[in-house]
Amino acid sequence: MKKILLIEDEISIAELERDYLELSGFEVEIAGDGTVGLERALKEDFDLFVLDLMLPGVDGFEICRRIRETKNTPVIMVSAKKEDIDKIRGLGLGADDYITKPFSPGEMVARVKAHLARYERLISSGAPANDVIEIRGLKIDKTARRVWVNGEEKNFTTKEFDLLSFLAQNPNHVYTKEELFSKIWDMESIGDIATVTVHIKKIREKIEFNTAKPQYIETIWGVGYRFKV
Ligand code: CA
Repeated sequence: MKKILLIEDEISIAELERDYLELSGFEVEIAGDGTVGLERALKEDFDLFVLDLMLPGVDGFEICRRIRETKNTPVIMVSAKKEDIDKIRGLGLGADDYITKPFSPGEMVARVKAHLARYERLISSGAPANDVIEIRGLKIDKTARRVWVNGEEKNFTTKEFDLLSFLAQNPNHVYTKEELFSKIWDMESIGDIATVTVHIKKIREKIEFNTAKPQYIETIWGVGYRFKV
Protein backbone atom coordinates (compact mmCIF):
# COMPACT_ATOMS: atom_id res chain seq x y z
CA MET A 1 0.00 0.00 0.00
CA LYS A 2 1.34 3.42 -0.92
CA LYS A 3 2.15 5.56 2.07
CA ILE A 4 1.62 9.32 2.06
CA LEU A 5 2.75 11.92 4.57
CA LEU A 6 0.56 15.01 4.91
CA ILE A 7 2.43 17.88 6.49
CA GLU A 8 -0.38 20.28 7.37
CA ASP A 9 -1.08 22.28 10.52
CA GLU A 10 -4.77 22.91 9.86
CA ILE A 11 -6.02 19.68 11.33
CA SER A 12 -9.51 19.82 9.77
CA ILE A 13 -7.97 20.12 6.28
CA ALA A 14 -5.45 17.39 7.04
CA GLU A 15 -8.19 15.04 8.23
CA LEU A 16 -10.36 15.73 5.20
CA GLU A 17 -7.43 15.01 2.87
CA ARG A 18 -6.57 11.88 4.83
CA ASP A 19 -10.15 10.57 4.63
CA TYR A 20 -10.29 11.00 0.86
CA LEU A 21 -6.87 9.46 0.33
CA GLU A 22 -7.70 6.52 2.58
CA LEU A 23 -10.91 5.95 0.63
CA SER A 24 -8.73 5.72 -2.47
CA GLY A 25 -6.65 3.01 -0.86
CA PHE A 26 -3.68 4.94 0.48
CA GLU A 27 -2.08 4.74 3.89
CA VAL A 28 -1.87 8.25 5.30
CA GLU A 29 0.08 9.82 8.14
CA ILE A 30 -0.33 13.41 9.34
CA ALA A 31 2.40 15.64 10.72
CA GLY A 32 0.88 18.76 12.26
CA ASP A 33 3.94 20.98 12.26
CA GLY A 34 7.04 21.59 10.17
CA THR A 35 9.60 20.28 12.61
CA VAL A 36 7.95 16.88 13.03
CA GLY A 37 7.07 16.78 9.32
CA LEU A 38 10.66 17.36 8.24
CA GLU A 39 12.03 14.80 10.64
CA ARG A 40 9.58 12.13 9.53
CA ALA A 41 10.02 12.98 5.85
CA LEU A 42 13.77 12.47 6.11
CA LYS A 43 13.81 9.43 8.38
CA GLU A 44 10.83 7.37 7.24
CA ASP A 45 9.88 5.85 3.93
CA PHE A 46 6.97 7.52 2.21
CA ASP A 47 5.84 7.28 -1.40
CA LEU A 48 4.63 10.88 -1.63
CA PHE A 49 4.48 14.08 0.40
CA VAL A 50 1.68 16.64 0.49
CA LEU A 51 3.33 19.68 1.96
CA ASP A 52 1.62 22.82 3.23
CA LEU A 53 3.71 25.97 2.81
CA MET A 54 2.94 27.93 5.97
CA LEU A 55 3.69 25.74 8.96
CA PRO A 56 4.75 26.24 12.55
CA GLY A 57 8.37 25.26 13.06
CA VAL A 58 10.09 24.68 9.72
CA ASP A 59 8.22 26.11 6.70
CA GLY A 60 7.33 24.26 3.51
CA PHE A 61 10.09 25.92 1.43
CA GLU A 62 12.77 24.57 3.73
CA ILE A 63 11.15 21.14 4.05
CA CYS A 64 10.96 20.75 0.27
CA ARG A 65 14.59 21.83 -0.12
CA ARG A 66 15.74 19.38 2.56
CA ILE A 67 13.74 16.47 1.11
CA ARG A 68 15.28 17.09 -2.31
CA GLU A 69 18.81 16.89 -0.92
CA THR A 70 18.34 13.16 -0.46
CA LYS A 71 15.07 11.98 -2.01
CA ASN A 72 13.25 12.05 -5.35
CA THR A 73 9.92 11.16 -3.75
CA PRO A 74 7.10 13.22 -5.32
CA VAL A 75 6.24 16.41 -3.41
CA ILE A 76 2.93 18.25 -3.90
CA MET A 77 3.02 21.70 -2.34
CA VAL A 78 -0.10 23.38 -1.03
CA SER A 79 -0.58 27.07 -0.40
CA ALA A 80 -3.41 29.46 0.35
CA LYS A 81 -1.86 32.13 -1.88
CA LYS A 82 -1.31 32.10 -5.62
CA GLU A 83 1.72 34.41 -5.11
CA ASP A 84 3.37 31.76 -2.96
CA ILE A 85 3.02 29.23 -5.74
CA ASP A 86 4.85 31.64 -8.08
CA LYS A 87 7.54 32.05 -5.44
CA ILE A 88 7.95 28.29 -5.04
CA ARG A 89 8.31 27.92 -8.80
CA GLY A 90 10.88 30.69 -8.86
CA LEU A 91 12.97 29.12 -6.16
CA GLY A 92 13.26 25.91 -8.13
CA LEU A 93 12.88 23.78 -5.02
CA GLY A 94 12.05 20.71 -7.02
CA ALA A 95 8.42 20.24 -5.99
CA ASP A 96 6.50 18.14 -8.51
CA ASP A 97 3.20 19.94 -8.29
CA TYR A 98 1.42 22.85 -6.63
CA ILE A 99 -2.14 23.25 -5.43
CA THR A 100 -3.79 26.45 -4.24
CA LYS A 101 -6.23 26.30 -1.32
CA PRO A 102 -9.12 25.86 -1.34
CA PHE A 103 -9.07 22.80 -3.58
CA SER A 104 -11.46 19.91 -3.90
CA PRO A 105 -10.29 16.72 -2.21
CA GLY A 106 -11.09 14.90 -5.45
CA GLU A 107 -8.64 17.08 -7.34
CA MET A 108 -5.94 16.39 -4.77
CA VAL A 109 -6.52 12.63 -4.94
CA ALA A 110 -6.29 12.77 -8.75
CA ARG A 111 -2.96 14.59 -8.57
CA VAL A 112 -1.61 12.24 -5.94
CA LYS A 113 -2.48 9.26 -8.16
CA ALA A 114 -0.92 10.89 -11.23
CA HIS A 115 2.36 11.64 -9.45
CA LEU A 116 2.59 8.20 -7.89
CA ALA A 117 2.02 6.61 -11.30
CA ARG A 118 4.60 8.85 -12.94
CA TYR A 119 7.17 8.13 -10.24
CA GLU A 120 6.46 4.41 -10.49
CA ARG A 121 7.09 4.50 -14.23
CA LEU A 122 10.26 6.45 -13.68
CA ILE A 123 11.78 4.00 -11.21
CA SER A 124 10.54 0.77 -12.79
CA SER A 125 10.92 1.59 -16.47
CA GLY A 126 14.32 -0.05 -16.68
CA ALA A 127 15.22 2.62 -19.19
CA PRO A 128 18.73 4.04 -18.99
CA ALA A 129 18.93 6.51 -16.15
CA ASN A 130 19.82 9.40 -18.44
CA ASP A 131 16.59 9.14 -20.45
CA VAL A 132 15.09 11.58 -18.02
CA ILE A 133 17.22 14.26 -16.47
CA GLU A 134 15.74 16.01 -13.43
CA ILE A 135 17.63 18.86 -11.85
CA ARG A 136 15.86 21.07 -9.34
CA GLY A 137 12.63 22.18 -11.08
CA LEU A 138 13.87 21.24 -14.55
CA LYS A 139 12.89 17.96 -16.17
CA ILE A 140 14.21 16.89 -19.55
CA ASP A 141 12.77 13.75 -21.10
CA LYS A 142 15.29 12.82 -23.75
CA THR A 143 13.23 9.95 -25.11
CA ALA A 144 10.11 12.02 -25.65
CA ARG A 145 12.14 15.19 -26.33
CA ARG A 146 10.00 17.19 -23.92
CA VAL A 147 10.95 19.70 -21.25
CA TRP A 148 9.12 20.81 -18.11
CA VAL A 149 9.98 23.69 -15.82
CA ASN A 150 8.40 23.28 -12.39
CA GLY A 151 5.77 21.01 -13.87
CA GLU A 152 4.92 23.30 -16.77
CA GLU A 153 5.84 22.06 -20.24
CA LYS A 154 7.90 24.37 -22.46
CA ASN A 155 8.35 24.11 -26.21
CA PHE A 156 11.85 23.85 -27.60
CA THR A 157 13.14 23.86 -31.15
CA THR A 158 15.27 20.87 -32.18
CA LYS A 159 18.57 22.66 -31.70
CA GLU A 160 17.53 24.31 -28.45
CA PHE A 161 16.57 20.90 -27.13
CA ASP A 162 19.80 19.30 -28.33
CA LEU A 163 21.90 22.04 -26.78
CA LEU A 164 20.05 22.01 -23.45
CA SER A 165 20.14 18.23 -23.10
CA PHE A 166 23.80 18.06 -24.12
CA LEU A 167 24.75 20.59 -21.43
CA ALA A 168 22.48 19.00 -18.82
CA GLN A 169 23.90 15.53 -19.33
CA ASN A 170 27.42 16.85 -19.03
CA PRO A 171 27.06 19.04 -15.94
CA ASN A 172 29.90 20.99 -14.36
CA HIS A 173 31.85 20.83 -17.59
CA VAL A 174 32.72 24.11 -19.28
CA TYR A 175 32.26 24.06 -23.06
CA THR A 176 33.43 26.76 -25.41
CA LYS A 177 31.00 28.12 -27.99
CA GLU A 178 33.12 26.48 -30.70
CA GLU A 179 32.83 23.09 -29.01
CA LEU A 180 29.09 23.46 -28.60
CA PHE A 181 28.67 24.58 -32.18
CA SER A 182 30.57 21.60 -33.53
CA LYS A 183 28.71 19.14 -31.27
CA ILE A 184 25.18 20.37 -31.86
CA TRP A 185 25.24 21.76 -35.35
CA ASP A 186 26.20 19.83 -38.43
CA MET A 187 29.94 20.19 -38.92
CA GLU A 188 29.36 20.91 -42.61
CA SER A 189 26.94 23.71 -41.99
CA ILE A 190 28.13 27.21 -42.48
CA GLY A 191 27.49 28.74 -39.16
CA ASP A 192 28.58 31.27 -36.74
CA ILE A 193 29.33 30.61 -33.09
CA ALA A 194 27.01 33.54 -32.35
CA THR A 195 24.26 30.99 -33.10
CA VAL A 196 25.21 29.30 -29.84
CA THR A 197 24.80 32.55 -27.91
CA VAL A 198 21.40 33.14 -29.46
CA HIS A 199 20.22 29.63 -28.60
CA ILE A 200 21.50 29.87 -25.02
CA LYS A 201 19.54 33.10 -24.63
CA LYS A 202 16.35 31.46 -25.91
CA ILE A 203 16.82 28.43 -23.66
CA ARG A 204 17.34 30.66 -20.63
CA GLU A 205 14.15 32.58 -21.37
CA LYS A 206 12.30 29.26 -21.14
CA ILE A 207 13.97 27.64 -18.15
CA GLU A 208 15.29 30.42 -15.95
CA PHE A 209 13.22 32.37 -13.42
CA ASN A 210 15.62 35.29 -13.75
CA THR A 211 17.72 35.27 -16.92
CA ALA A 212 20.10 37.80 -15.36
CA LYS A 213 20.92 35.28 -12.64
CA PRO A 214 20.76 31.92 -14.36
CA GLN A 215 20.53 28.95 -12.03
CA TYR A 216 21.05 26.30 -14.71
CA ILE A 217 23.32 27.45 -17.53
CA GLU A 218 26.15 29.64 -16.28
CA THR A 219 28.22 31.88 -18.49
CA ILE A 220 31.92 31.44 -17.83
CA TRP A 221 33.21 34.74 -19.12
CA GLY A 222 35.82 34.46 -21.81
CA VAL A 223 35.42 30.68 -21.98
CA GLY A 224 31.89 29.45 -22.60
CA TYR A 225 29.03 27.80 -20.74
CA ARG A 226 28.57 25.32 -17.96
CA PHE A 227 25.48 23.52 -16.71
CA LYS A 228 25.31 23.88 -12.95
CA VAL A 229 24.02 21.09 -10.70
CA1 CA B 1 -0.64 26.17 7.18
